[in-house]
Order: sequence, then C-alpha cells, then structure tokens
Amino acid sequence: MAGSDLVLTGVTKRFGAFTAVDDLDLTVPQGSFFALLGPSGCGKTTTLRMVAGLEEPTAGSIRLGADDITTLRPYRRPVNTVFQSYALFPHLTIFENVAFGLRRTGAKKVKPQVEEMLELVELGQYGGRKPTQLSGGQQQRVALARALINRPQVLLLDEPLGALDLKLRRQMQIELKRIQTDVGITFVHVTHDQEEAMTMADTIAVMNSGVIEQMGSPAELYEHPSTTFVSNFLGQSNLVAATVVEKDEDHLLLDVEGSRLVAPLARAAALTGRVWVGVRPEKVFLAHTGSETDDGSNVLRGAVVTDVSFVGVSTQYLARLPWGQELMVFEQNTGARLSFRTGDQVDLHWMPAHTFLLDAAQDAT
Ligand code: ATP
Repeated sequence: MAGSDLVLTGVTKRFGAFTAVDDLDLTVPQGSFFALLGPSGCGKTTTLRMVAGLEEPTAGSIRLGADDITTLRPYRRPVNTVFQSYALFPHLTIFENVAFGLRRTGAKKVKPQVEEMLELVELGQYGGRKPTQLSGGQQQRVALARALINRPQVLLLDEPLGALDLKLRRQMQIELKRIQTDVGITFVHVTHDQEEAMTMADTIAVMNSGVIEQMGSPAELYEHPSTTFVSNFLGQSNLVAATVVEKDEDHLLLDVEGSRLVAPLARAAALTGRVWVGVRPEKVFLAHTGSETDDGSNVLRGAVVTDVSFVGVSTQYLARLPWGQELMVFEQNTGARLSFRTGDQVDLHWMPAHTFLLDAAQDAT
C-alpha cells in the first residue's frame, strides 16, 4: 500500500430500510485514475459523497493513507469534488473563480499558481473573461482548475461531463486523462457511461445494487467479465447456453446444441455443468456455410444473416442460429465490399482464446 491510497473497508450506507451501498471494500491506489461505473441508482454517487464527507457511512471506515477520515468534516479532508453543474461564480472572472479557493486559505503567490492552473487546463488566455463568455467544455475546465488549485490528495468527479455533447465529451475525456497524468493526483470518477470509464480509468469498479460486481483494468473487465451484468454493461456481448463436457489441463470442452466448443480453463476452472459461453461481437467472424477452416476456431454452423447495418467504422450483423438465438457480429470496415447479405447461410467462428465463461445460475440479460 502506497502513502495515500484511499481505502474503503466495509462501507455501508442505509437510508431507512434501504441499503444504497452494501459492505463495500475498495482500494484506490495513490495517483491513479479510478472509475466507479454503474447504472443509475447503483450507489456510486452515495459512495463518492461518503468519501467527500457529505454523507456519513452507516458502517465501515474510510482511510486516506494513515488517516481515518470516516467522520471528518468535508472541509477538513484533502479531497475536492467536481460536479456535473460547474457552479462557477457568474460575477467573477475566470481568474478569480480559480483563485477563490486559494484566497480562502490565505495563500501567498496566488497569481502564478492560478496562471499555472489555467495553462494546465489550456485556458491561459481566458483569465479575464466571465463564465458566460465560455463554452460548456471550457466552463467545465475552469471548474476542474478551481478544484485542483488547492492540490487535494483526491479529486472526486461526479459525472462531470454529463452536460456536454458527445463530441466535446470525447475531447474532454482525453483532456481529463492528460490532466490527471500531469498533476498525479488520485481521481475518482463516477459515471454510468462505460466508454467514458474505459477511455480514462486505470481501474474500473463496476457497481450494481450497492455492491461492486467486479474491479479491474478496462481490458480485464472487457475481455474477462466475471458476471453477466458486467459482460452486458461493458459493451455488447453474445451469451450462449452450454454444458461443460470435459476438462484438461488448459481447456474446457463444451457442448452447444451438439456443437463442440473449446474455452481456456483459466478463470473458469471452478465451473461445471451448465454455463454461459460469452464472446464479444467483434471477435466473431462470418464464413459462408460449408467453407472449411483449420485455424482451430470455435464454430457454430447453419446460421442465417437476419440483419446487416453499416455503421461507418464497422458493419454489424445479426445471425440467427438454428435454435433461434441471434448473435451479433461486428466486422471492421477496411474498405472491402460488404461480404454478407440478409438471408445468407453462414457459420460463426471465433478463437477459443476469445471465449469467456460465466456461471449459468445468473440471468443472461
Ligand atoms: P445516478 O447515476 O442516478 O446518480 P447513483 O448510482 O449515483 O445513481 P445514488 O445517487 O448513489 O445512485 O443512489 C443510490 C440509491 O440510494 C438510489 O436508489 C437512491 O434513490 C437512494 N438514495 C440516495 N440518496 C438518498 C437519500 N438521501 N435518501 C433516500 N434514498 C437515497
């Protein structure tokens, strides 16, 4: 554990009989970009508010490095928050908005610090303007500069890009990541947008109904989801019912409606009997029925293309398997002509390494 890791242990928050956050254990390494990701109402804002000191946990502790901050007043914590609403002072200039927090603490050398912070958020030329003279994205960067100027140990961001349009949001995601790397402060970012979390965070905790379902790097969560909820929340996934037939040292042999599929044993060694076989749509490729391949791929044969959608970077297919289930297939558009049409008879292929397995006791939706 590094000097100022943020550590939540057994943190619970009840509102009357309702448990919003349930026995949460969580470590955010110092200097990392951490995302709390989950659907509306899963408890992520409540978790953030407990770290900020705006809610007191019903049980559990929150530590920052060696300090227990569970019940510390908000202003006593080395923590700042940026909200979706920028809440800038309309009558003050951008410079004075950013300087505000510093002046409050009686800091000296305010001017160079504010100028440095405005440079960091690329608003060096805008110090003399009023908030209404800036765009939404620029105002959000002022809010960020204002929250960072006191050099908090942890910056909490509650859906800070929620009010921006899609293009600006994408730009700001990259900006936020750059700024976090530059300042090296721990960022804890709350969002319901999986793409946003994956773009920015080193580590993502996926929350559902007050608990963390899975925590890991974006790639780990995407490639190896451990629950159907995580699998579905982080992008599109195909889940097919299967039965484990055999295991060897490295692989599982599975039966799907009479077809034999192979999956890596790693992370799935404990599974037996009924399972979900998962594969991401961009990992599946189509072949005209009957065309032979000997590349070791898993194959589900006898499907029919039921939909073809051109979406710019990719073409998205729906293919109906003989038992009626439809799988999604995303094919990167590399300039070649569309190779499949609605009604084509196709086989679905993917490599065993791209297969993940989930316990069938969980609902697939
Ligand atoms: P959103 O993305 O919509 O903000 P969230 O994941 O941040 O959702 P929270 O705001 O943490 O969710 O709320 C979690 C649950 O706790 C919700 O069901 C909410 O209605 C409930 N809740 C939050 N604050 C209170 C409160 N002060 N009193 C009663 N219930 C509350």
